[in-house]
Amino acid sequence: MTATKEPSFRESVDLMFNRAAALMELSPGLEEKIRVCNATYTVRFGVRLRGQIHTFTGYRSVHSEHMEPVKGGIRYSLAVNQDEVEALAALMTYKCALVDAPFGGSKGGLCVDPRAWEEHELEQITRRFAYELIKRDLIHPAQNVPAPDMGTGEREMAWIADQYKRMATTDINYRACVTGKPINGGGIQGRVEATGRGVQYALHEFFRHPEDVRAAGLSGTLEGKRVIVQGLGNVGYHAAKFLQEEDGAIITGIIERDGALFNDKGLNVESVRDWMVKHDGIKGYPDATHHAKGADVLEASCDILVPAAMEGVINLSNAKRIKAPLIIEAANGPVTAGADDILRNKGTVIIPDMYANAGGVTVSYFEWVKNLSHIRFGRIGRRQEEARHHLIVTELERLNRGIGDAWELSPGFKQKYLRGAGELELVRSGLDDTMRSAYQ
Ligand code: GLU
Repeated sequence: MTATKEPSFRESVDLMFNRAAALMELSPGLEEKIRVCNATYTVRFGVRLRGQIHTFTGYRSVHSEHMEPVKGGIRYSLAVNQDEVEALAALMTYKCALVDAPFGGSKGGLCVDPRAWEEHELEQITRRFAYELIKRDLIHPAQNVPAPDMGTGEREMAWIADQYKRMATTDINYRACVTGKPINGGGIQGRVEATGRGVQYALHEFFRHPEDVRAAGLSGTLEGKRVIVQGLGNVGYHAAKFLQEEDGAIITGIIERDGALFNDKGLNVESVRDWMVKHDGIKGYPDATHHAKGADVLEASCDILVPAAMEGVINLSNAKRIKAPLIIEAANGPVTAGADDILRNKGTVIIPDMYANAGGVTVSYFEWVKNLSHIRFGRIGRRQEEARHHLIVTELERLNRGIGDAWELSPGFKQKYLRGAGELELVRSGLDDTMRSAYQ
């Protein structure tokens, strides 16, 4: 069945889930129970800024508490809405199950343009939002542990952790109330680049299966592959950087808020990022053609397309024109359910988000464990700290390999995987067992 009208993001995630659930033998009614979000809290609060009270709307959605704490980032964007946080929370449940991180799924969002406010103003806004969520146990080391997402980073996580500490003065585990913190505030080496690293490892796994590489109309290794990256934020930047510097891929296109850069011979990711930070955009970057309409470059020819910005960028309006034979969903939900149908019909291979971008939450798990164990890795010596970091990176690799092997061992799994983002065999992910025991 091909969708003719674009569903909302949440409907799109639900459609993908339905496809996966149809492959499982779930007891009657369980499918719906797993699909729906358990609760979404909406809060509106005022902050006095620039001489007047500004009202902000925020959300924290809990998709499934079959394991606690529930886990998922907090997003700052003007496009945040209930449908979006619910879709993202559901994706967190499935993602954590897939990589066997012992968390339920959650997500938060605040309708705010972080670029429109000064740092001290953002701190006031963040602390007030955190206060509202902490009051309701929607930030809590044992119940709900946020992390960075679009528009937030280490800085915001440090403010949240500090706010929690002020309010829960007797909680010895206060640092575990949020992950993605700066190293000196209880964070962990490797968390910042973890999601991009996971994207790279997922591609390594794909290229370890020559017959699948052929099925995508490609051959060989990542070396020399032409890659277009949409979004040079934390995920896109690290994925592109690693693919270029470590795997010899050629980054031919970079799409950002203010247009796109294209150069058939390759763009230097590090210098584009420097330019972007300095000039508040990519426009004017030398050694590339600039396209005012960034979306056009999504449709340019390349070997691998890496949408790493936000949901719904590949949709019913452009799916037919996407030329990339391989798409890796570095963002959450960048390919809509309707676009997924169109792309699968024309043989495009899609490596789904719940696998491709799970590196972030995997390393968040280690940060949470580190905070709960109260062992500062530095305390046990620099060498050991490095060894722990190495272990984490190896664990990321091992997880990807494990999933890759499962895919190799089971022709059914592979088939479904190749047929599109929604059809990962969730039985293999452990979601089945956990969900069964949680709801029976
Ligand atoms: N926001 C990230 C994601 O979408 C990370 C979540 C986390 O570390 O909890 O996966």
